[in-house]
Amino acid sequence: MKTYLNTVDGAAVGADKTFDSINPATGEVLGRAPVSTRAQVADAIAAARRAQPSWAARPDAERKALMMRVAEVIKANAAALAEWVTREQVKPLGGVGPDQVPGARFEAWGCEVWTQVPASLDLPVEVAFEDDTRRDEIHRKPFGVVAAIAPWNWPLLIAIWQIIPSIRVGNTVVIKPSEYTTIGTLELVRLINEVLPKGVVNTVSGPGEVGSWLVSDPGVDKIMFTGSAATGSRIAEAAARNMVPTTMELGGNDAAIVLPDADPKAMAMGLFWGAFINMGQTCAAAKRLYVHESLFDQTVQALKEIAQAVPMGNGMDDGVVMGPIQNKMQFDKVVSLVDSAKKAGATIVCGGQARGGPGYFYPLTLVTGLEDGARLVDEEQFGPVLPIIKYRDVEDAIASANRLDAGLGASVWSSDVEKAREVAGRIQAGTVWINQHGMIHPMVPFGGIKGSGYGVEFGVEGLKAVTRPQVISVKKG
Ligand code: NAD
Repeated sequence: MKTYLNTVDGAAVGADKTFDSINPATGEVLGRAPVSTRAQVADAIAAARRAQPSWAARPDAERKALMMRVAEVIKANAAALAEWVTREQVKPLGGVGPDQVPGARFEAWGCEVWTQVPASLDLPVEVAFEDDTRRDEIHRKPFGVVAAIAPWNWPLLIAIWQIIPSIRVGNTVVIKPSEYTTIGTLELVRLINEVLPKGVVNTVSGPGEVGSWLVSDPGVDKIMFTGSAATGSRIAEAAARNMVPTTMELGGNDAAIVLPDADPKAMAMGLFWGAFINMGQTCAAAKRLYVHESLFDQTVQALKEIAQAVPMGNGMDDGVVMGPIQNKMQFDKVVSLVDSAKKAGATIVCGGQARGGPGYFYPLTLVTGLEDGARLVDEEQFGPVLPIIKYRDVEDAIASANRLDAGLGASVWSSDVEKAREVAGRIQAGTVWINQHGMIHPMVPFGGIKGSGYGVEFGVEGLKAVTRPQVISVKKG
């Protein structure tokens, strides 16, 4: 059994202790990864610190060119990286590009695009004030060493979202992947180290404890975290002790509101993928659907037809577009939420029963007959189950959307964009999509509010988030 290694200061690093990475579709052990020690975490931070001044001092054009080479390396290795995603994280391979079912090949392609775009962006000096007496400029400086902690649902893409903007502006990085999806990320970082100077991007690996050593180390200048709200709170506490700024991309419980004038047939596919992308294991997936009573039955029927036609299986097989749930903890949560809905008298429109056998397979499940306050509505399911709730008054749907302590995304569906825009403006979420859901873009800032976190990633705003402003104030005359 192969042991995959961390990359620190450009070199491959193992550890005395290792853990197995398992394919959740088959139970097969894919390989081993190191459990980094506390001393190794400190070594990785020290390597990033040593590399940072010369990396930041490079001319901008040179850093940009190197990052374009990173994108080429990702492209050249996209097939192997996608296979790691499918075997470790279990999203099916699927197609490539923006119009495809977003599977593992899409994720590898996304890594390439989310590298090219920040590489092509600039943060020019801004003039905050100028008159005859003075000129005040805002320059953007890297923080120094960025600690990145990643989740398991989009293991490569989220790592890229954390790494690439950080290094684009002159930071260096130590990243810890999720213990559920470690090897693919270690491989990604090993590959991009082929073109980057040593120490610019480093990895450590292991359980949450390894992450806690990383984020509490005084050698870290900025923390990028994507994961659950509970872990986010613990990291925010550790960051506060060292006065370190953080970007917190936490869980969501996105509402999708279907207005009375929407066209159920036309929107069904968009709604379906908005909810079931990556088997629902996506932060900004639609997790509660509020449908006006006048189109309720038609909408449920249209979604049911799509759900029942979608092939589920081992994502390495051709034609499969849905895989299993990624891990037992998440599987148990989905089972428990559906059971609680059944006990509350809900209607299971389709699915609702695990199929048994190897792998954490759970069928796509639509549930009606629930109201706000039911566990399946109020808790983030992060799996292939969607509660569909009937409403009569749009005001009630807006109040429902806003009543939880979550505010990552939301969507409004209507034939009248202006009407939808008016509703969208009243929803408490970092992004409100109209007639689409979860359609992130590398140029468009993305981040949550309320319990979904703070700070944004992507685009120029995302680059600013990994810098601190420095004012240069010049007296004139
Ligand atoms: P998680 O919080 O359990 O784990 C995330 C990472 O944190 C893992 O690498 C883990 O090892 C590490 N960790 C655990 N304890 C730690 C500690 N004390 N200090 C430092 N690191 C620690 O989350 P998960 O189950 O991997 O991911 C699922 C959650 O992530 C969902 O709630 C989902 O909505 C959210 N998510 C949010 C976004 C977003 O952009 N907002 C994107 C993807 C996922």
